[in-house]
Amino acid sequence: MRIGIGYDSHRFAVGRRLVLGGVEIPHEVGLAGHSDADAVAHAVTDAVLGAAGLGDIGTHFPPSDERWRDADSIALLARAAELVRGAGLRVGNVDVTIVCEAPRVGPHVAAMRRRLALALGVGPDRVSVKGKTNEGMGWIGRGEGVAAIAVASLEPADPSA
Ligand code: MG
Repeated sequence: MRIGIGYDSHRFAVGRRLVLGGVEIPHEVGLAGHSDADAVAHAVTDAVLGAAGLGDIGTHFPPSDERWRDADSIALLARAAELVRGAGLRVGNVDVTIVCEAPRVGPHVAAMRRRLALALGVGPDRVSVKGKTNEGMGWIGRGEGVAAIAVASLEPADPSA
């Protein structure tokens, strides 16, 4: 079994959509970024690529490349999952923690699990999403943005290999 970790953060910005885990969440501000700024999808992508030893999201989808402007990050995650399968591995499970003061992510967890699982090619039971606040401390506590931390395990696609 192989384990990878991923971290991402994005700053809140007026006039942007808030997309987390592939789910658009109604909120007064969204997240700034070159792509759709989906910090959850980005953290999961880095965890999966990291577990496979395949670099990181910046290696495969550099922000300098105009192809990825306003990109659907769930599509990038699906592409990363393809790379993992190409390396003879498959996703065992993924666990993500989203850290922000607002909005509350709880009501959207089930939808995020479904969206992430579909991109990863696994059942939603293999994907966990949890929300936390930062107890009012620091930049997250001041409501400046969102952070996401993800862990992924990979296993050989062919266990006899
Ligand atoms: Mg990002």
